[in-house]
Amino acid sequence: MSDECIFCKIANGEFGTKFIYEDAELLAFRDINPQAPVHVLIIPGKHITRINRLEDSDQALAGKMILTANKIARDERISESGYRLIFNCGPDGGQEVEHIHLHLLGGRQMNWPPG
Ligand code: AMP
Repeated sequence: MSDECIFCKIANGEFGTKFIYEDAELLAFRDINPQAPVHVLIIPGKHITRINRLEDSDQALAGKMILTANKIARDERISESGYRLIFNCGPDGGQEVEHIHLHLLGGRQMNWPPG
């Protein structure tokens, strides 16, 4: 938990954010500025700043983030149409919030290369 971290505050319920998924380790909620019809963020409750800070002991947690995104994609009915999972990391990766989060984007055709 970091006192300054907006996603830690969300995880603590300080903003009343509605969680579309929650378990002992992970939370998921809709992005406040959605870039696609479905745009969900999957975060760990544990404060880890960037994916390049993950440690060997976080292996199961990191894998669970992907499996949870797949589950939410099924719930959101975009599993078969397809979707994109994104971890932004650091300044060049376009990361704005320093608490790791997996973007689940779907419900429209994605473009490549990304901006
Ligand atoms: P990133 O650029 O990968 O760090 O993405 C951060 C994401 O968090 C952006 O897509 C923001 O729109 C989103 N975001 C920031 N604040 C909130 C919030 N209070 N609730 C939901 N999403 C947020």
